[in-house]
Amino acid sequence: MESLRPSSPRLKGMAPYDPKYLPAEAVLSANENPRDRAPGLREDIAQRLEVLSFNRYPDPLANDLRDQIATANGLDRCEVLVGNGGDELLFNLALAWGGPGRKTLDIPPTFSVYAQNATLTGTEVVKVKRKPDFSIDEEAVLSRLAQGDIDYLIITSPNNPTGDLADQRFIERVLEATDALVLVDEAYGEFAGESMLFRLKDHKNLAILRTFSKAYGLAGVRLGYLLAHAEVVEEFIKVRQPYSVDALSQVIGSCVFEHRNEFANEIAHTIEQRELLFKALSDIADVQVFPSSANYLLFKVDDAGEVWRALYEKGVLIRDFSSAEDLKDCLRVTVGTSEENTLFLGVLEQVLKSRKTDAAK
Ligand SMILES: *Cc1c(COP(=O)(O)O)cnc(C)c1O
Repeated sequence: MESLRPSSPRLKGMAPYDPKYLPAEAVLSANENPRDRAPGLREDIAQRLEVLSFNRYPDPLANDLRDQIATANGLDRCEVLVGNGGDELLFNLALAWGGPGRKTLDIPPTFSVYAQNATLTGTEVVKVKRKPDFSIDEEAVLSRLAQGDIDYLIITSPNNPTGDLADQRFIERVLEATDALVLVDEAYGEFAGESMLFRLKDHKNLAILRTFSKAYGLAGVRLGYLLAHAEVVEEFIKVRQPYSVDALSQVIGSCVFEHRNEFANEIAHTIEQRELLFKALSDIADVQVFPSSANYLLFKVDDAGEVWRALYEKGVLIRDFSSAEDLKDCLRVTVGTSEENTLFLGVLEQVLKSRKTDAAK
């Protein structure tokens, strides 16, 4: 055949998700942990991989890891689900609670994957935009929910890319105001030190998403997990691909989860570095930086696209949001090692200074 029948109309005008990864001296674009796992831990992992049967299918539900996560959170196995990254669980949410004739409420600017998943599953996206300072328009969200037609919504706390936490009292009000499934995305929760976990037992419509990709430094391994009522987990299991979490990831996840208390220092260090970076960016006159409870900072600068390019040309890769809706002139920098942060700041100051000199010519 020379011709090809068109793909689903849902894909029309859709662009594939692009993390905009480019090689650079300092990669501060994807909110990863700048430190890889320690050699000792890697040896433990290697030993466990050595005795793994590659010819057998993995445990479809990763029950060993599920039990570890359940115990650590004071839950039962049936209240936990492991996914191929948090991303898989976000897609499962759209499959299980969305679909043609169903609606999700989106609170942009936020993680663009949510709206993309809705479109892919034929779910209608109802947007309630954030305020100019990027805080949630709480009353607008609550009044839209009062119409009673929303099937699920995601509250990202801390929000990506803006960095702000959602107020727990607000989340509580949402949980009371609707029977829609409310997923609180806590991908960066470890850097914020607060979680909605303590309300899980009281709200059947609350689900919490976490990932191994950020604080646990396992973005390359693809593991995320959902904490929710057993009935919610059941519905997610119906739509998931049975073997999405491979045997290698299960072993690595188990090992890393056992050692998770060792990451406390690393997390504290990242928070300390974030505060230093925030202070330094606040001191630059041409930059407006937004407070963050995560491992990244969003900031505004004139001609952000040009600034992004100049930084990249000098070896520093950050994330350019300047052409994204509602994020004009915004760039996001991940908190790196102290050396990487110093490099970023030095280059940024140099770029802004040479721009001024050029303008004066
Ligand atoms: C990184 C991230 C996730 C999950 O990423 P995975 O690598 O798929 O686990 C989920 N939500 C937000 C907001 C994120 O930034």
